[in-house]
Amino acid sequence: MQRILLAVLGLTLSMGLTTGCATIKRANVGRTAAAILISDEQEEQLGRQVKQELETKEKIKYVEDPAVVEYVRNVSTRILQQANKDRKNVKWKVNVIDDPKMVNAFATPGGYLYVYTGLLLAADNEAELAGVMGHEAGHVVGRHSAQAMMLQYGEQAVIEAALGKNANMVAQLAASLAGTGAGLAFSRGNETEADELGARYTSAVGYAPQGLVTFFGKLAAQEGQTPGVLKWLSTHPPSSERVSHLTTYISQKGLTGSDLGADRLAAIKQRVRK
Ligand SMILES: [Zn+2]
Repeated sequence: MQRILLAVLGLTLSMGLTTGCATIKRANVGRTAAAILISDEQEEQLGRQVKQELETKEKIKYVEDPAVVEYVRNVSTRILQQANKDRKNVKWKVNVIDDPKMVNAFATPGGYLYVYTGLLLAADNEAELAGVMGHEAGHVVGRHSAQAMMLQYGEQAVIEAALGKNANMVAQLAASLAGTGAGLAFSRGNETEADELGARYTSAVGYAPQGLVTFFGKLAAQEGQTPGVLKWLSTHPPSSERVSHLTTYISQKGLTGSDLGADRLAAIKQRVRK
C-alpha cells in the first residue's frame, strides 16, 4: 500500500512539475507530496547529515566573532518567527560561514540556514540581508529542497539518505551547495514562491520588502566585475521577469515597510573586514 502511495505521489510530483499547469497549483502539489514522503523528522536528519558533511568534507569555517553571529541571528529570528506561522515545528538553525569572497546563502531540509560573510559584504543594508534570509526561509516553508532532491535523486534515495543509508547523496548535495558547482536546482515556480514568501516575512517585521529586488539589481550589475564568486546569483538568476513579478507582487499585496538598517549592517561589515 505504501509503495503504491509512493508511486502515485511520485508521479503526481513529476507531472506537476513538468506540465504547464499554474505555478501555484504546481508548488502546492509538490509541497504536499514532499510532506507526505519526507517527515519533519527525516528532514531534520537529512539537514544534520548535510551539516556534518559541510564541516568535515567541504571544510566550511564558521565566523568566530560573536557580535557578527548574534547580529545575523537577530535579523533572521524576527523573519523566521513569521515563517513559522506558515510551517510550524521548524527549529531553525542559522549559521554564518567565514568566507568573504563567496556571495552565497542557502537552506537545507530541517531548517538549517547558511549565510556567507561574502553576502553580508555584498549587501548595502539590513533589509537586503533580511530579503535573502526570508527567501531562503521560504524554500524551507515550501519544502522545496525535499522536492528538488526527490526530482534529482529519486524518492527512495532521499528517504534512504534521511535514514543514514545514502552517504553518497549527502556528500553530493553538500558539495553542490558549498562548492563552486551548481547548487540544488529549484523549479522556477519554487523560486517565485520563495521570493513572495520572503517579501511577506520581511515586510511583516517592518523591513522594506524591496530588499531582495535591490539586492538582485546590485548583484546583476556586479557580475563579472567583482572578485570572488557570486554563487547566489548563479542559483538565483535575476531575470527582468523575476524582478518585475516581485515588484508587482509587493505593490498588489500592499506590502510595506521602511526599515533599511544600513547603519547597523555597516557596523557589522567593518567587523567582518577586520
Ligand atoms: Zn531560491
